[in-house]
Amino acid sequence: SPRTVLISGCSSGIGLELAVHLAHDPKQRYQVVATMRDLRKKEMLEAAAGDALGKTLTLAQLDVCNDESVAQCLSGIQGGEVDVLVNNAGVGLVGPLEGLSIDTMKNIFDTNFLGAIRLVKAVLPGMKKRRQGHIVVVSSVMGLQGVIFNEVYSASKFAVEGFFESLAIQLLQFNIFISLVEPGPVVTDFEGKLMAQVATAEFPGTDPETLSYFRDFYLPASRELFRSVGQNPKDVAQAIAKVIGSTRPPLRKQTNLRYLTLAALKAVDPSGSLYVRTAHSLLFRWPRLLHLSLRCLACGCLPARVEP
Ligand code: NAD
Repeated sequence: SPRTVLISGCSSGIGLELAVHLAHDPKQRYQVVATMRDLRKKEMLEAAAGDALGKTLTLAQLDVCNDESVAQCLSGIQGGEVDVLVNNAGVGLVGPLEGLSIDTMKNIFDTNFLGAIRLVKAVLPGMKKRRQGHIVVVSSVMGLQGVIFNEVYSASKFAVEGFFESLAIQLLQFNIFISLVEPGPVVTDFEGKLMAQVATAEFPGTDPETLSYFRDFYLPASRELFRSVGQNPKDVAQAIAKVIGSTRPPLRKQTNLRYLTLAALKAVDPSGSLYVRTAHSLLFRWPRLLHLSLRCLACGCLPARVEP
């Protein structure tokens, strides 16, 4: 019988593409419960789901920040059994730290970190009882390496990585797998929402030098990265589907080969300096070369050499 897959954050982006991809599985291996915080935003998903709607794909309301919503969503699932949980819902945050409120930061952690945990707590007892299950988490390369002006977002994904790596050890005893999927930039609403926020944000209390690093260095480089090496959400969905379909799912899966080398810099130099200095040089010394360097680091033609 098909495996029940519950996905959070399906009104757009990676979640939407994954829900549609799994619902159209040629072998009909999945019964997809595509959830979203606000069901008024269901049109895009419904249109993309086509004839799978009401058959291999059903819609449900789910706000990962709300305990009641989580409980209600789970109680609406036939048999209450979730075989595969995909923690996809997430929000970004960029900007100079001095200009961001603690409440804004709390919301990032509540969604990206605690939101995933709320769902895990809800599905885990059933998975343990059945001694099977798969928990997939859409993390990020920023869960592996810190990125300038993304401190809080990156920290929320590091938290996710630490939490799920720890949990994976216990869950092996129950035949339950965990997979952290780590995309680089993906061309979805995610970036647009962030850019809209920073366009009007004033970041009060931030000194002009820091603001200039953010607006004149970081933002153009970030736009260029999305443009040059940004992945299509369909490709990311396909990579996640492969992880879900695998008999021995990996703990980690990066979807963009260009980022493998950058992440590896941390392993090569345990002191951490190599990664920090390379990231610094790529932004402040060779800004025009940033996307090119990523390509070349990935193919190996540009060695990651930095001055001490
Ligand atoms: P997106 O903005 O299109 O999708 C995120 C979804 O999460 C949206 O549908 C949003 O409504 C939903 N969401 C936010 N708060 C929620 C809540 N409280 N309850 C339920 N749903 C909520 O962007 P995306 O790129 O598809 O992002 C999906 C995941 O991928 C996120 O976890 C994000 O951190 C991660 N990611 C994105 C990128 C990128 O560059 N786009 C890169 C790496 C990782």
